[in-house]
Amino acid sequence: MSAKHYEVIIVGGGISGAALFFELAKYSDVNSICLLEKYDDLATLNSKGTSNSQTIHVGDIETNYTFDKAKITKRTAKMIEKFNLMYDLQDKIMFKHQKMALGVGEKEVEFITNRYNQFKEIFPYLELWDKETLREKEPLLVYADKERTKDRPEPIVAMGTNDQYTTVDFGAMTKELVKAGQNANSEKTTDVYFNSEVDEIEKIADKFKVTTVNGTVYTADFVVVNAGAHSLYLAHKMGYGKHMGSLSMAGSFYITNGTYLNGKVYMVQNDKLPFAALHGDPDILCEGKTRFGPTALALLVLERYKGGKSFFQCLKTMNFDGNIMKIFWDLIKDSEIRNYVFKNFLFEIPGINKKLFVQDAQKIVPSLSVEDIEYAKGFGGVRPQVLNKEEKKLMLGEASINPGNGIIFNMTPSPGATSCLGNAERDIKEVCKYLGKAFHEEQFLADFTEK
Ligand SMILES: Cc1cc2nc3c(=O)[nH]c(=O)nc-3n(C[C@H](O)[C@H](O)[C@H](O)COP(=O)(O)OP(=O)(O)OC[C@H]3O[C@@H](n4cnc5c(N)ncnc54)[C@H](O)[C@@H]3O)c2cc1C
Repeated sequence: MSAKHYEVIIVGGGISGAALFFELAKYSDVNSICLLEKYDDLATLNSKGTSNSQTIHVGDIETNYTFDKAKITKRTAKMIEKFNLMYDLQDKIMFKHQKMALGVGEKEVEFITNRYNQFKEIFPYLELWDKETLREKEPLLVYADKERTKDRPEPIVAMGTNDQYTTVDFGAMTKELVKAGQNANSEKTTDVYFNSEVDEIEKIADKFKVTTVNGTVYTADFVVVNAGAHSLYLAHKMGYGKHMGSLSMAGSFYITNGTYLNGKVYMVQNDKLPFAALHGDPDILCEGKTRFGPTALALLVLERYKGGKSFFQCLKTMNFDGNIMKIFWDLIKDSEIRNYVFKNFLFEIPGINKKLFVQDAQKIVPSLSVEDIEYAKGFGGVRPQVLNKEEKKLMLGEASINPGNGIIFNMTPSPGATSCLGNAERDIKEVCKYLGKAFHEEQFLADFTEK
């Protein structure tokens, strides 16, 4: 039997692969699309609802985003909202919560106040909340003790909002994207194959031969690899992206046994640290509980909780040599980063982890105690942070390898779920241009641009 042929094969059934599947099916005249997923369901790794922070990162309360970056993220983040509204998924898998960036101590209070004055131009709905407003909105941020008899000693202020969509079950959204893609046009072929781990991709003449570990072979005119931390592994296998390595930063969470926060509370980012500051928020998949996290721990795996061979794949993907060593050395020689790395390692060690973690989380809720939190077992995921060997530095955010010959590899650390439809918009243009197909951009922009 000859191999089944598709115009486009997407490798990886997380939210990035699902977003491109949806866009190709609905907004292009590509007629045959195939999604190959390693496991027996969509979104079982980082896009799963319990693996990430469930936050639509718009740029309004993320203090590590510059003014210009916030403008760009706002556009792609709004696409998440548009999709969910278009398919009537609000209050089912997308929710409105109160959200804020909290400043603690004089320096941060000044920082948040200045930032509010600058960023309200992009986000006019933002409000500046003083201590008395916070006492009403989020009382546990204000009090030093559980009995609520005295206030915390430091000054606090927050910039926030009450009326925006903030939270999504990205795992459920992955499934909705695939469903919407399959229902978009009944004349198209939109196949999804589970238990289909891609082992090898070869370019033969003008086609790609895609072979799974089970030995099944498919062919395609264009391939997009959206395999999360595994994308770089597959790229290296084909000889692409050799100037990059990948560092797997696992993120874990701690969970309370009751409601501690009414909404999302993010903190001021330490510029030196490449990973998001700790935050606390209600978990939409654990009714009535508050999650704190994520932690940031370098792990030698490409995925968590699945066992298997990802340790060896991770070692290969790190692409270790003198340049990678130099990147690690530059990070570790800074005492703030060194302490942060060490502390995050201790956050995973039973016995001492809770005690240490609670000290950090007390910056949000000063009265939080060790008895209030549990390590959230089975929660969290891996952020594939890219190491650029040519520039000898850790790259923040996402990376895409596009050699221009019909294949693209995407690496998507946070906020990759928020930017999935924006990344897919970039890739659909590339796919259509290469294949000489039409991208129905007018329709796409009408559906996804803010009026
Ligand atoms: C702790 C943490 C918190 C985060 N918080 C947020 C947040 O609040 N907001 C936000 O926007 N983002 C957040 N992120 C980032 C976000 O979760 C990811 O960017 C996003 O889920 C990536 O989606 P993906 O589809 O690219 O990758 P994944 O979800 O990892 O999916 C990749 C898929 O590819 C499959 N696959 C792998 N190898 C193969 C192969 N060889 N063949 C076939 N299939 C394969 C996998 O099984 C998987 O289904 C967070 C991440 C972490 C770890």
